[in-house]
Amino acid sequence: MLNDPIVVLVDRTPEGDPTPAAMGLVSVARGLTSADVVALVLGSVDTSVCAELAAAGASRLLAADLGGREAVAAVAADAVVAAVEAVMPAVALVGSDYRGKEVAGRAAVLLGSACASDVGDLQVVGNELRASKLVLSGTWSTTMTVSAQADRTPVISVHAGASEPAPTADGQVELAVEALEVALSAEAAAVTVVSREVADAAAGPDLSEAQRVVVMGRGTDGDLELVHSLADPLQAAIGATRVACDEGWIERSAQVGQTGASITPRLYIGLGVSGAVHHTSGIQGAGTIVAVSDDSEAPIFEMADYGVVGDVAQVVPQLVEELARLRS
Ligand SMILES: Cc1cc2nc3c(=O)[nH]c(=O)nc-3n(C[C@H](O)[C@H](O)[C@H](O)COP(=O)(O)OP(=O)(O)OC[C@H]3O[C@@H](n4cnc5c(N)ncnc54)[C@H](O)[C@@H]3O)c2cc1C
Repeated sequence: MLNDPIVVLVDRTPEGDPTPAAMGLVSVARGLTSADVVALVLGSVDTSVCAELAAAGASRLLAADLGGREAVAAVAADAVVAAVEAVMPAVALVGSDYRGKEVAGRAAVLLGSACASDVGDLQVVGNELRASKLVLSGTWSTTMTVSAQADRTPVISVHAGASEPAPTADGQVELAVEALEVALSAEAAAVTVVSREVADAAAGPDLSEAQRVVVMGRGTDGDLELVHSLADPLQAAIGATRVACDEGWIERSAQVGQTGASITPRLYIGLGVSGAVHHTSGIQGAGTIVAVSDDSEAPIFEMADYGVVGDVAQVVPQLVEELARLRS
């Protein structure tokens, strides 16, 4: 176990609750240090948020009022810097989605420290923090030691699914909200959010955090309704291969793979996906992999736990029917 505190940037849902990934990250931090786990929350905080974070293992809560600008990654990075300077932790952890990686990189530069991104596992060995991540399209796992040098706190972005949220064994701690003053950098102050809208693909569960993902490949021939017919009853997020995005069947934010999102769902279902390495590098952290393709030689079957050789237009309705039957 580490003996120094850990700061965790807590991402929130549009309703203001900590995201499942953020809860998981707090829980990961709790398992790494015997000192404080300091949850950094952007915006206002109510008692239910305090209770949730305490149950996940936070022992302090810093709330930064950023005047509604918390969506800007540079603003969030300034808040991480302020929290690090206030707490002097061993490490600061953020989620490893697009925004989290931007926040981590920027905060590390401002702190003059190191940044590790896309980390899938964190362990303490002796008194050293070890971070592991998949590299080279998921063909190698690399483990590095990450430590503060000359009091410069490193920042690590960690994938959702690195750990399950787990309540602490010591019973509930009352978390008092501590206000954190954040001095905005000139770069952060220069950015103003003009508008925000939820992308269609994100209208379901968030891809980077989803426990179940159904991926639309070329073999679906753009039939989003077919993909939804399976994803919706599973409450799964919809992802896509680059081909499906290039074809304009779904927006780019749904792309999974080397140049898209890396996902770590418990269940991945690929529909008409061949399994090119550029795609499968983004699903290395997936639990059970199910593939439906009409080509029995498709590389995805080499990594699939369950494979169905057939036409998605015939197989998917049968899957949906069977799911409904099992649930009735
Ligand atoms: C630098 C670089 C980066 C890239 N980054 C990414 C990335 O991030 N993500 C990504 O996904 N790709 C990426 N690609 C593209 C990648 O190499 C593949 O071209 C892409 O993943 C293939 O998508 P696909 O599986 O949908 O299509 P295909 O490879 O064409 O496979 C379609 C599959 O569906 C099957 N099929 C066809 N019709 C049916 C049917 N009716 N029923 C069932 N099965 C059917 C076919 O037999 C085939 O197995 C990248 C490529 C490069 C060069």
